[in-house]
Amino acid sequence: MVVTRVAPSPTGDPHVGTAYQALFDYVWAKKNAGRFIVRIEDTDRARYNAESEARILAALRWLGISHDEGPDIGGPNAPYRQSERLSLYQKYAQELIEKGHAYRAFETPEELDAIRKELQQQGQRGGYDGRARSISKEESNHRAAQGEPHVVRLKAPRTGQTVLHDQLRGPIKFENSGIEDAVLLKSDGFPTYHLAVVVDDHEMGITDAVRGEEWIPSAPLHVLLYQAFGWPEPRWYHMPLLLNPDKSKLSKRKGNTSIEWYRDQGILPEALLNYLGMMGWSMPDGREVFGLQDMIENFSWERMSLGGSVFGWDKLKWLNGKYIREILSLDDLAERLKPFMEKAGYTWQNDTYLKQVAEAMRARFETLQEFVEKSGYFFTDNYPVQEKALAKIREGAAYLPEVRTLLAKLPSLEAEVAEPAFKSFIEQKGLKAGAVMQPLRAALTGVLETPGMFEVLHLLGRERVIARLDRAIQ
Ligand code: GLU
Repeated sequence: MVVTRVAPSPTGDPHVGTAYQALFDYVWAKKNAGRFIVRIEDTDRARYNAESEARILAALRWLGISHDEGPDIGGPNAPYRQSERLSLYQKYAQELIEKGHAYRAFETPEELDAIRKELQQQGQRGGYDGRARSISKEESNHRAAQGEPHVVRLKAPRTGQTVLHDQLRGPIKFENSGIEDAVLLKSDGFPTYHLAVVVDDHEMGITDAVRGEEWIPSAPLHVLLYQAFGWPEPRWYHMPLLLNPDKSKLSKRKGNTSIEWYRDQGILPEALLNYLGMMGWSMPDGREVFGLQDMIENFSWERMSLGGSVFGWDKLKWLNGKYIREILSLDDLAERLKPFMEKAGYTWQNDTYLKQVAEAMRARFETLQEFVEKSGYFFTDNYPVQEKALAKIREGAAYLPEVRTLLAKLPSLEAEVAEPAFKSFIEQKGLKAGAVMQPLRAALTGVLETPGMFEVLHLLGRERVIARLDRAIQ
């Protein structure tokens, strides 16, 4: 049985890095007919954000990554929020003290500051020298019983090595002399990440801990905790980082890291998921378009490369465009466009019309939001007129009245009728097609890039065409 988990901290926007972790956790669990858990690591009360948890869960749901256990759906390992599991961490911290693997430390924040400075001056790394180790058991118990504020620290071995067996990298050795007596339980009774992650992964039966590479430096501490408790370690997988296009670690400052931002731009969940699947991983046949099921069927860690992958907007947009053009049905596409159109305040006479416009525009937009931005003239008469479109209208001003007359008297604006009529008009006048088409296009749409002119004429219909021409002529 494989049990995996993603353990986001509810501190802000749902991060694409969380989705990346969740995707690989989910795929690996499902590949092995296992379970995937969402656990909320909310012990950092200073950074806690009340809405964040619901937004993270909604973002994962939107992406189609469904968990088997979690704070919203419960499960056999409830509760799934660390803030609701405090007594568990306290119990285990106590157990470590009794076994001699942890100790209470009573320094005040000022004393800790002084110790840190002292160590720095001596050129030593770390922030604590372990001085409370020498407090006797009796004294420690007595001071705790008196209610003296304290933290619980790991008594890390001072010699030897700790080995992290990373499934993707092989063994990584750490000198114990470099491992600090990390705080496990804070004075307010909350655990630190280190204690909570180990206790919860153990208690929840996590067999495979998949998490970001940034946790490798903390991993020896976690290995030591497993050893101190006498628990078997999970298999460790430290995933490569997502990078900005300049190869720095993906960050809010340089790119957009919020899943909601991509959703609001009109990136499709299946495209975002597909793109995250391409981060450090590839399909055996090299196919770029693949879905969750494809990934589950073809997944293996051997195909994971560790270099770190650029999470770039251009490539994501390209992939999204591919879904829009080649994979979604027209009905599906129109349904997904609707909320974007509504949000922009557009109305449409009926769904058939929306579908026709979507079909005409299909090769011309890569996100749902781009459709809204580029298709406005199909839905309102108050579309903006671009500078260069205005220039074209001026250039063609001489012909537009005649074009208006021609279009007004044609029996219909269907391409079969309008196209030949146009051709003969242009030939009679001895003009080039573009000399008439571009000014007409500009007059009807306010831009110079649109679907084919005859498609536009047909979609707009005679009434709107004539009204817009009149306006342009004026
Ligand atoms: N709460 C940690 C984070 O936000 C989880 C790390 C882990 O998966 O162990 O990244």
